[in-house]
Amino acid sequence: MKINKKTYVKNIIKRLSLIYPNAKITLKFSSPFELVIATILAAQCTDKRVNIVTEKLFKKYKTPKDYIKTPLQEIEHDIKSTGFFRNKAKHIKELAIKIVNDYEDKVPDSIKELTQLPGVGRKTANVVISNCFYRNEGVIVDTHMIRIAQLLGLTYEKDAVKIEKELNELMEPKDYLYFSNLIIALGRNICIARRPKCEICPLNNICPSSRI
Ligand code: SF4
Repeated sequence: MKINKKTYVKNIIKRLSLIYPNAKITLKFSSPFELVIATILAAQCTDKRVNIVTEKLFKKYKTPKDYIKTPLQEIEHDIKSTGFFRNKAKHIKELAIKIVNDYEDKVPDSIKELTQLPGVGRKTANVVISNCFYRNEGVIVDTHMIRIAQLLGLTYEKDAVKIEKELNELMEPKDYLYFSNLIIALGRNICIARRPKCEICPLNNICPSSRI
């Protein structure tokens, strides 16, 4: 069954790569620290909106110390349009303090250390490790991945950590990031929550949840 599922995943990658050959992260960043901040802001918000906000934000706040010396209310104001701004600002301020105190102003490069930063879970840690440190440690399990992996019958788990573990076993580590970006692109454009466009989906004759 595992072997069949691996073949199935290869087929999914092959089909999706035809419509999204250059699938990659859409958040804009120029350092691991900027990507951590952008990924925190992207929770419950579109990458497009985050990119608008970070264009100004990253000019104003260049280092963790810039967030530390700025009053919390001012950070909240600067990120307000991304939603859930109070929580996000609190996490950003706390993680800036931890990065300065524990990691000499640098974002740590291990999943274990990253996930100990305030507001950083495995999803964000995998985003940063794969896009900034170029290591393949795990599939990025965001809301698109959870929904679509279930629709495709790749997992019946609901917990993100368990889903990641299952998916990691179904492909080569070199495919973790590309597979993640392909599924995220599919989730944004075709397999949209509540109204999947199965009629134009390249997976519609292999997906067990296809509506056609
Ligand atoms: S066939 Fe439909 S349900 Fe399956 S992945 Fe495509 S859009 Fe989603």
